[in-house]
Amino acid sequence: MRFRKEASPRWLRRWCPDEHVSSVAEITPARLQAHGICALLLDLDNTITPWRSRQVPPEIAEWVKRMQAAGIKLCFVSNTRNLGRLQRLSEQLNIPYARGPMKPRRAMLRRALEMLSVSPQQAAIVGDQLFTDIWGGNRLGLYTIWVRPMHPREFIGTKVSRQVERWLLKRLERYRVDESAS
Ligand SMILES: [Mg+2]
Repeated sequence: MRFRKEASPRWLRRWCPDEHVSSVAEITPARLQAHGICALLLDLDNTITPWRSRQVPPEIAEWVKRMQAAGIKLCFVSNTRNLGRLQRLSEQLNIPYARGPMKPRRAMLRRALEMLSVSPQQAAIVGDQLFTDIWGGNRLGLYTIWVRPMHPREFIGTKVSRQVERWLLKRLERYRVDESAS
């Protein structure tokens, strides 16, 4: 589903994604290119792998290959403290990673844009959390894609912010684009 971010009130807009998808596999090169997007900054936990897992589900690994084959540039922007795991997944999927202060701070996202040689207008951030991925992406003027978390298992602090996310989602509902009308 898509949202009319510009129609939402200012206090809410920072957490308003441009799109909400149930899995990254719904994101297609054609859909990105329609928005002038050629690069994706990817969250790791609960977006590409379950939380703390080293296993990439096969359908996600295939999606990564499809994106790469279509010339979409990819870079990990993860708040994980486990650098070893991030490095292994980076090698396994052939996706570089940027490091820096945690999202929603912008430095790591800026670094990723530099690594991929793209402008904020050419990039989207893809992640499962409104308060890190989407907020950080909106602060930098990226196209923001909110993904339903892959698995309910997650960091205890995240479980708390999920309750606030649910409350926000109710406020965001009224800015949903009616896709049947378009
Ligand atoms: Mg995540």
